[in-house]
Amino acid sequence: MPLQDIKTRISTAETAAGRAPDSTKLIAVSKVQPNERVEAVLEQGHRCFGENRVQEAASKWPEFRERFDGIDLHLIGPLQTNKARQAMELCDAIHSLDRPKLANTLARLAQERGACPDLFIQVNTGEEEQKAGILPMDTDGFVAECRALDLPIRGLMCIPPVDEEPALHFALLAKIAARNGLEGLSMGMSADFETAIALGATHVRVGSAIFGERTPDRT
Ligand SMILES: *Cc1c(COP(=O)(O)O)cnc(C)c1O
Repeated sequence: MPLQDIKTRISTAETAAGRAPDSTKLIAVSKVQPNERVEAVLEQGHRCFGENRVQEAASKWPEFRERFDGIDLHLIGPLQTNKARQAMELCDAIHSLDRPKLANTLARLAQERGACPDLFIQVNTGEEEQKAGILPMDTDGFVAECRALDLPIRGLMCIPPVDEEPALHFALLAKIAARNGLEGLSMGMSADFETAIALGATHVRVGSAIFGERTPDRT
């Protein structure tokens, strides 16, 4: 679907929810997409992108940054502590802060560098065993822990279980964010970003709807 159509759908959803225009940031998720598709979206003036692997981000974005100004790159996938430094150097925001060990590593590196990307804590709203993230009941404590480390926590992120109504998970995430005084809500993907906007998403992560299907062996 053309980028412009996605943007129109976002503004329609904002209006329907009584929200301010442009209150939702569109993260175009470019993971596994061929470079020419990413380039086409850059040529249309879009600058905010998401990758889920540090290695892939490192192989693609430094070159694009040389050719296009103002790129805003978000890491949305799992982050190993041994890649944290590289992730901080490459990315403007990290949406996958999901454990105390990573918080400690990011805090140490932030001190060292004197800078830190915006951080979102990933919450495992569906309490799924195989999924990363802080459990809802542990989130208040983890937010406090991160704040004590001086980490710039901007909001929360979730990926709802595939077989459940996403609205319930978005509403839960919004509730946890509100009671912790957090404004950022990274939620909503190609199939459900309008629902996420209705429930307050500030960042939607949209991949296949913009770029087309990815090869099935990589999600
Ligand atoms: C791949 C991915 C997306 C985008 O998914 P689409 O369904 O293609 O829009 C969003 N968030 C995360 C964390 C992802 O890994």
